[in-house]
Amino acid sequence: MSILKVARLGNPVLRKITAPLTPREIQSPIFQKFIDDMIETMKEYDGVGLAADQVHESKQIAVLEVAENPRYPNKPNVPLTVLINPKISPLTDEMEEDWEGCLSIPDIRGKVPRHKSIQVQAWDRDGKPLEFIAVDFHARVIQHEWDHLNGKVYLDRMRDLTTLTFLTEFARYWMQR
Ligand code: ZN
Repeated sequence: MSILKVARLGNPVLRKITAPLTPREIQSPIFQKFIDDMIETMKEYDGVGLAADQVHESKQIAVLEVAENPRYPNKPNVPLTVLINPKISPLTDEMEEDWEGCLSIPDIRGKVPRHKSIQVQAWDRDGKPLEFIAVDFHARVIQHEWDHLNGKVYLDRMRDLTTLTFLTEFARYWMQR
């Protein structure tokens, strides 16, 4: 496995709409290795999710996992999940604001409104259909990654930019609020 280079904000790859994968592409050993590399890269940088365009592959795949993450303490665990060609639909109009960061926008955080619960349809890494409901932080992570696959970053979703903060200032002024 290898750790992949993460594209940072300003790299045009982050603004492109990613291409769906065919079942045949998913089965290929090269693509399966790419999935392993995405997972390793996400873990290396303590991410809770990573979209393929963040590692320079404009394809509809994202990985996510929340497990005792130092960047997001006190969040419920989410098992390691691979989402290929995901589709999401909100289950409620209810929106919730909470902090988000992004490996492509290092050292910065801001408060982002997201749907509280969503229905997710995708393929897993074997090309098998996945369908589940995600709520709260789990739903937030998936909406964040889904945005990446559609050429968006969380800054585009903020209602205003007044909560934008560097991590050091986050720890100093915003923790526990
Ligand atoms: Zn991100």
